[in-house]
Amino acid sequence: MEKIANYINGQWLAPTSGKYLDNINPATGEVYSLIPDSDASDVQLAVDAARAAFPGWSTLLAEKRHAVLARLADLIDRDADALAMAECIDQGKPVKLAKNMDIYRAAANIRFYATASMHVASEAHATGAEAINYTLRTPVGVAGCISPWNLPLYLFTWKIAPALAVGCTVVAKPSELTPMTAYLFTRLCREAGLPDGVLNVVQGLGPKVGQAIVDHPDIPAISFTGGTVTGKKIMSSAGPMLKKLSLELGGKNPNIVFADADFDNAVATSISSSFTNQGEICLCGSRIFVERALFDRFVKAFVEKTKELVVGDPLDEKTRIGALVSEGHMNKVLSYIELARKEGGTLLTGGKRVTVPGRCANGFFIEPTVVVGLPQECRTNQEEIFGPVVTIMPFDTEDEVIGLANATTYGLSATVWTTHLTRAHRVAARLKSGIIWINCWLYRDLRTPFGGMKQSGVGREGGWEAMRFFTEAKNVCVRL
Ligand code: NDP
Repeated sequence: MEKIANYINGQWLAPTSGKYLDNINPATGEVYSLIPDSDASDVQLAVDAARAAFPGWSTLLAEKRHAVLARLADLIDRDADALAMAECIDQGKPVKLAKNMDIYRAAANIRFYATASMHVASEAHATGAEAINYTLRTPVGVAGCISPWNLPLYLFTWKIAPALAVGCTVVAKPSELTPMTAYLFTRLCREAGLPDGVLNVVQGLGPKVGQAIVDHPDIPAISFTGGTVTGKKIMSSAGPMLKKLSLELGGKNPNIVFADADFDNAVATSISSSFTNQGEICLCGSRIFVERALFDRFVKAFVEKTKELVVGDPLDEKTRIGALVSEGHMNKVLSYIELARKEGGTLLTGGKRVTVPGRCANGFFIEPTVVVGLPQECRTNQEEIFGPVVTIMPFDTEDEVIGLANATTYGLSATVWTTHLTRAHRVAARLKSGIIWINCWLYRDLRTPFGGMKQSGVGREGGWEAMRFFTEAKNVCVRL
């Protein structure tokens, strides 16, 4: 059975404990590889390597950093099929989605920040004729990057690429549920010529490895994507150490459909925003609000299309809904479906575990599920389910739906469907979410700020935001 290794100082190492954890294929329920059960001593080795590599990498000409990262992006493209297959087996998502979304975006992340590294400029401010100020942005040092299981290589690269581009060295931890593509990626780092110690990947459990990264005194900045509860824990550990923190957390995103919307597009895209990646995307629109005049027609069409989605073997090209990431997560999602029933909801389709015949008979599959008849304030509509479950609710006025959309503790993203130009802008201005999509969903320009308000996070990623996060500004004032 394949043993995944840590990548520290350019070497593939076994964990110092010698212990391993099982890595389960969620589509079959079978153990298919072993993950290092690393601890603080492995993190220490990684920090030592990252500190030693920092002076060389941070002072390298931007052209040279660009060249290495651009090669890395090309290597991801070259190996896209193998990486997509690995992501599919590790996470449970359909292989087609893994290739078209996850791996495509991983290469795009690296390429985007490779080129951005060439465009960092220092600002200067003339204070009349008396003084000139210029602002230097220097890399913070060793950055800690902790990523989740839902979009493994996509979110791993989204963090490490800006850190590496500005000259930081990195200690990174992927989720223990999906370690494989980060491991395969380290092989490409070596091939691309990334110097030893610049990127170090320590695999293992969050409370052991993740916490050791957060607590380490020589890691001044932590970039984390994951659940809100974990984010709060990280903040309470890192806060007293005055670390820089970027936290991308959970969501309970509203999807608002006005009666004048382009109906076919609204229905088709809402199917994607509800169920892509089994609903395991922080940006999925899990609460759909439909203007009453359109409600019955929308619900009918939406349920019909939901029933057409093929739940099945992620390796099958026809599959639209693969396996949930783990048995534990599947049971959590099923418990929320039970809660929706108890809270008085009506299930129009779905609601059950699916047994896929053949090699996937023991996999963790759930039918895409549509619930109506629930009030906004119930737990089903307040808590993040992170699975293929949506609720649909009617509304009568613009003011009412804005109130409903904003009435959760989260504020990550929102989608608005309308052909009324001024209403679109008016509603966008009043929604308390960090990302608003009008007549589209998950349409991304990597230059834009990415992140959430309220309990959905602290700080923003994307474009210059991430590059600023991984640097310290130093202003120099020269009296003339
Ligand atoms: P978790 O918060 O459970 O874990 C995220 C990462 O943190 C994992 O690598 C985990 O390791 C690690 N971790 C766990 N405990 C600690 C700790 N004490 N200190 C440091 N690191 C720790 O999230 P999930 O992996 O379950 O991901 C799903 C969540 O991520 C959802 O809430 C989703 O909304 C959110 N998310 C947010 C996004 C955004 O951009 N806002 C994007 C994607 C997802 P391990 O897995 O080994 O426990």
